[in-house]
Amino acid sequence: PPGDFAHIDLIQLGFSYASMVLNLGTGCGLIWLALCGHRQDLQRIARTDSLTGLLNRRAFEEMLARELQRVKHNGKSLVLLLLDIDRFKVVNDTWGHLAGDRVIRQVSNTLQKGLRPSDALSRVGGEEFVALLRDATTMQAEEIAERLRTEIADLTGWPGGAQITISIGVAQSHPDETPEELFHRCDQAMYHSKNSGRNLVTVSELPSGGLVVL
Ligand code: GH3
Ligand code: MG
Ligand code: MG
Repeated sequence: PPGDFAHIDLIQLGFSYASMVLNLGTGCGLIWLALCGHRQDLQRIARTDSLTGLLNRRAFEEMLARELQRVKHNGKSLVLLLLDIDRFKVVNDTWGHLAGDRVIRQVSNTLQKGLRPSDALSRVGGEEFVALLRDATTMQAEEIAERLRTEIADLTGWPGGAQITISIGVAQSHPDETPEELFHRCDQAMYHSKNSGRNLVTVSELPSGGLVVL
């Protein structure tokens, strides 16, 4: 009867409508997932140094601020190592920029391998790296820094049989310090290593103390 046909049409219309809504929902969901993935990719790229794959300076600064808050809360401390390749300009000037890039990558790999899984390494400048050592005493950090320094100095296979060395500054965090103050103290310790002849580790004593050269 005509009434039944009208009823079937209504059911078909309902199904078509539901299927359209479902397809639309699936499409929107897929687009949303793709956008989330894309956003994560962009965030990762924005935090990564393209030459070495390490965290870049911005990501490091964010992490340092977060970690300092955490250790302050726990009544603990962390240790920073600032590591700078010695006379790197000469490397570029003598062997070229590409060879310089290779040195940066090789140094980065060696430092990464020499750190503990809980440590974080970042490239914060052209030939400058920072390592954040969680749950380390100054003495442990000194040992790690000294080992890293030796490992880099012992690397061979550079063009012209040259030696690549790094100067290191070590600074343990103090609860009253800002991230910038801690970084500055570590930088000063690193420059102390430079001014004392390079290929050295300098430990910065906590704010009231002086500098100790290893
Ligand atoms: P010092 O021992 O005092 O640290 O001397 P240095 O020559 O290492 O320091 P300086 O700051 O004079 O030179 C650093 C050089 O690093 C200058 C710059 O051209 C180079 N550099 C910065 N970024 C890169 C990079 O991504 N690749 C290469 N190949 N060179 C870079
Ligand atoms: Mg340098
Ligand atoms: Mg430098």
